[in-house]
Amino acid sequence: MTVADAIRTAAEHLSTTSDTARLDAELLMANVLGVSRSLMLLTRMRDEAEPHLAVFENLVSRRAVCEPVAHLLGVQEFFGLEFAVTPDTLIPRGDSETMVQAALDAAPADARVLDMGTGSGALLLAVLHHCPSATGIGIDSSAAALDIAAANCKRLGLAGRAQFLRASWLEEGWADRLGAFDLVLCNPPYVETDAVLDPDVRDYEPAAALFAGPDGLDDYRAIVPQLGKLLAPGGLAIFEIGATQEEAVTGLARDSGFAVTMRRDLAGRPRALLLR
Ligand code: GLN
Repeated sequence: MTVADAIRTAAEHLSTTSDTARLDAELLMANVLGVSRSLMLLTRMRDEAEPHLAVFENLVSRRAVCEPVAHLLGVQEFFGLEFAVTPDTLIPRGDSETMVQAALDAAPADARVLDMGTGSGALLLAVLHHCPSATGIGIDSSAAALDIAAANCKRLGLAGRAQFLRASWLEEGWADRLGAFDLVLCNPPYVETDAVLDPDVRDYEPAAALFAGPDGLDDYRAIVPQLGKLLAPGGLAIFEIGATQEEAVTGLARDSGFAVTMRRDLAGRPRALLLR
């Protein structure tokens, strides 16, 4: 059996549970071979698969019960950078690149940035990577997530410019000593408690990063009124929202005195709100 045969067989097996079965199989095999997917496709497809089959088939069987590819590989690409991920953080999503692009379009080069609910650190670190004189703080209520964020910070060579702190915006006084920021990024939990999620998300990603009450708005309700003390004069806050939440979150923001603009994701859905 060649590498190509093994990938084809695995892709067929995965096609009942994954919309990206072929890609999944290729990524898992490339990982087992220790090469990039593109190099594998160019140079390794006719190799004998036998020495790699046991490890590959183990990964494929985990993927077949919907374990995310990012968890199996331990990494996820986001905004052109590679982030370590574990089940302790949300897997950075392509949709959230909308926030980073909006931030890079608007933020001053030397921005002081706060990332609320930083998870893997993806939003903050992508912005810092592209703004060489910016600095930032990532907060999260999960100590395990903060460990991942700090590891990603180091791995991306940003250690001097970002700090990670344990804090919860649901607790009194959490922001007292943080100071004021030019840019606040926040991809809070925003999924309705009874929403039906794909098993890949529901069974493997942290519920605390996803669910936010019956209408998914609990965290926006908690955060938006606190923005006044977090933003420096002229500062900007960027929130990710669910595709149907534009009106509700815009309303909350206006109630707190903010002017709001919206950015769509690559699929054309409302995805980020900019509050000034
Ligand atoms: N967009 C995410 C989802 O699919 C939700 C992320 C969030 O709640 N911040 O499931």
